[in-house]
Amino acid sequence: MSIYQSVLLPDGNTYSLPTGLFINNEWKTSDKTFEVIDPSTEKVLTHVYEAGVKEVDEAVNAAKKVMKTWKDVPGEEKAKKMLKLAELLKQNIEMFSVVEAADSGKPLETNAKEDMKSVVDYLIYCAGFADKLHGTTIPIATNRYAITKRYPLVVGQIIPWNYPLSMASWKFCPALACGCTIVLKSSELTPLSLLLFADLVKKAGFPPGVFNVVSGFGAIAGERIANHPDLDKVAFTGSTLTGQKIMRNAASNLKMVSLECGGKSPLLVFDDANLEQAAKWASFGMMYNSGQNCTANSRILVQDKVYDKFINLYVKAVKEDWTVGSPFDNKANLGPVISKKQYDKIKSYIQKGKDEGAVLILGEDSDQLRSLPKDGYYIPPTIFKNCTQDMTIVREEIFGPVVAISKFTTDEEAIEKANDSEYGLAAMVFSENFGRIQTVADQLEAGSVYLNASNDEDTRVPFGGYKMSGIGRELGEAAIELYTQTKSFYMNVSHRL
Ligand code: NAD
Repeated sequence: MSIYQSVLLPDGNTYSLPTGLFINNEWKTSDKTFEVIDPSTEKVLTHVYEAGVKEVDEAVNAAKKVMKTWKDVPGEEKAKKMLKLAELLKQNIEMFSVVEAADSGKPLETNAKEDMKSVVDYLIYCAGFADKLHGTTIPIATNRYAITKRYPLVVGQIIPWNYPLSMASWKFCPALACGCTIVLKSSELTPLSLLLFADLVKKAGFPPGVFNVVSGFGAIAGERIANHPDLDKVAFTGSTLTGQKIMRNAASNLKMVSLECGGKSPLLVFDDANLEQAAKWASFGMMYNSGQNCTANSRILVQDKVYDKFINLYVKAVKEDWTVGSPFDNKANLGPVISKKQYDKIKSYIQKGKDEGAVLILGEDSDQLRSLPKDGYYIPPTIFKNCTQDMTIVREEIFGPVVAISKFTTDEEAIEKANDSEYGLAAMVFSENFGRIQTVADQLEAGSVYLNASNDEDTRVPFGGYKMSGIGRELGEAAIELYTQTKSFYMNVSHRL
């Protein structure tokens, strides 16, 4: 199979897409390929080459070798290359968006294009750090002080499928700014946009080996990245279960680990909240990207006095806000879920919700489904009410457009229920009383707390999880900690003992 394949995408155009392994700025093949499926049609879009242990080793060797010289390249030069990369992506944003929409099922206009713009912006933001990395000076005694300097790492990065290029950018942008060299593995479900991006890396002038992209499966290529003795660090976004495996494998050479894992984020609605606004935010924060968001507000806790009123407003908002349909249908903004496996898993959670006594108030019999094509992994917005803490749909991450609503009476009960989860990625609080909201928010076990809002992340703000939602903070200045190692120099300026 040749590296560039002509692929007809649902926008009606044929694109020449790279399918190889991008190692040392060259396209390589391997002895295996795997299918890439369009979740909106269930059809095979193309095949891509699969990295095994040998290919990952080759990529790591390339990243390690170039570090010898790349570490001495001034930050300003690295910044210029990052800005060039941003410019190249901007010039090709339409094509990238179409490829991302076809590969992941994201609505083209409302999601895929926004994702691509966010990658351009984050490249520009992080390029600003490249020439501003500095350490500290620590006075020790008269005529003696210490300074610290930051040093880059050879890093492995493992990415999920829910925001293929955008999640990858949360990792490669700060890593490039810090002068790291990279071996990045995309999700086996969504390899295409990262392969397309690899072509731009070369055009932007990054030397061979600085940024390597491999497609492959977690149990083979992913494991090799996690246990590779020559990588200084592994950064991962994905499920908590995989995060645990990665940590165990990373222990083999004590590599640094950062993990962005799952969530089951609670959204609290107090009786003094602006209920219309709370309903709108809760609709957006749950259903965007078909609920395939690690910070989706998938548990909604409502104070008893406003429970029924909020639910009516919420159902109305969800019905008005979301139209299920093809990623390439401009009238639709809720695409299919990523795969058959994920579709079946979400369906089984919906069944469990019913079996365990939750009340389904919106979902399966939705009018919207009748007009859909018969193929594609479509699940309509699904709302359960009268949920209790012991129910599976309240405890486990579903990662689809399914929300569980339950009731509380006091502020203390709301906090206790919100924190009663193994996860701690995000939480949302709605109240018009800022004192109350801050008191509650302070006690919530979550890396991000949204006050009167939901899921409006900003790449300048640190992001990460408490408890089993992860280790470390991505985005903002915090990401620099993830991609540098500090060395301390003890300086004796008097020379005397
Ligand atoms: P996943 O854990 O199945 O896979 C994520 C990545 O890990 C993929 O590239 C996969 O190939 C790789 N992988 C799988 N097994 C591996 C192993 N043993 N060793 C090394 N790598 C391995 O997750 P997913 O299904 O792709 O993504 C969904 C999950 O990601 C959800 O749980 C979601 O909450 C989480 N997520 C978290 C964040 C965050 O920022 N916290 C963001 C997006 C998604």
